[in-house]
Amino acid sequence: DPRLKAISEAIRVVPHFPKPGIMFQDITTLLLDHKAFKDTVDIFVDRYRDMGISVVAGVEARGFMFGPSIALAIGAKFVPLRKPKKLPGEVISEAYVLEYGTDCLEMHVGAVQRGERALVIDDLIATGGTLCAAIKLLGKELEALLKFLLFCFVCLLVLWLTLLCLEMLLTRTCG
Ligand code: 5GP
Repeated sequence: DPRLKAISEAIRVVPHFPKPGIMFQDITTLLLDHKAFKDTVDIFVDRYRDMGISVVAGVEARGFMFGPSIALAIGAKFVPLRKPKKLPGEVISEAYVLEYGTDCLEMHVGAVQRGERALVIDDLIATGGTLCAAIKLLGKELEALLKFLLFCFVCLLVLWLTLLCLEMLLTRTCG
């Protein structure tokens, strides 16, 4: 794709940021270049439109810079995957290992539904740990639903057993 060269050139490389030895790929310079920015979004839109994707999940923070534009263009909703304690509602979380230490992504419960097809957007893949955590988090929504259904089933079972015991007790007392 002839657009890729210009996109690549629009990304500034900052040596030794945020620590010595890291060649940081700075996408803020890409955002300053209207054509390169639009081409980047268009490439994703062309690739993922008409694929039945109803959710674009953006990873905080730079996934928020590309995700919403892609979501609007392909007719999907946008779901932010945020760092801990940023979302106000009930959340599900997924912890993951970084080069040094751990981090965590959170998503609002109910933001995605069972059977929905999701596209995860971030600016860069290094080890792939963040992306794997995002995919696991989206899968957890289904896990949460199954746990809820299991909980309902156990509650109904307990209620049924209690009623059965009561009935036996009453039959014995009255009989
Ligand atoms: P991974 O989890 O794949 O090791 O790292 C990817 C995550 O770290 C992404 O969320 C990305 O934003 C951030 N990241 C790591 N290195 C860079 C970099 O050089 N440039 C930018 N823009 N983000 C980076």
